[in-house]
Amino acid sequence: MSFIMVRACHRCKEYVVINPANPSNQKIIKKFELKHARHTIVTLSISEVKGYYENVGKKLLF
Ligand SMILES: [Zn+2]
Repeated sequence: MSFIMVRACHRCKEYVVINPANPSNQKIIKKFELKHARHTIVTLSISEVKGYYENVGKKLLF
């Protein structure tokens, strides 16, 4: 059972993990939300997206 939450885009089938304790994570989420601003972004448990959606967190790091 995992309580890790993610921000996910339904249209692109991509997600980023939410980690409030990590400052660079906040930048990643901001970038993700800007990139998918006109799409459908939702907050889900990671278990709902893993295997179906792609984790793009590393791509948005720099
Ligand atoms: Zn999208």
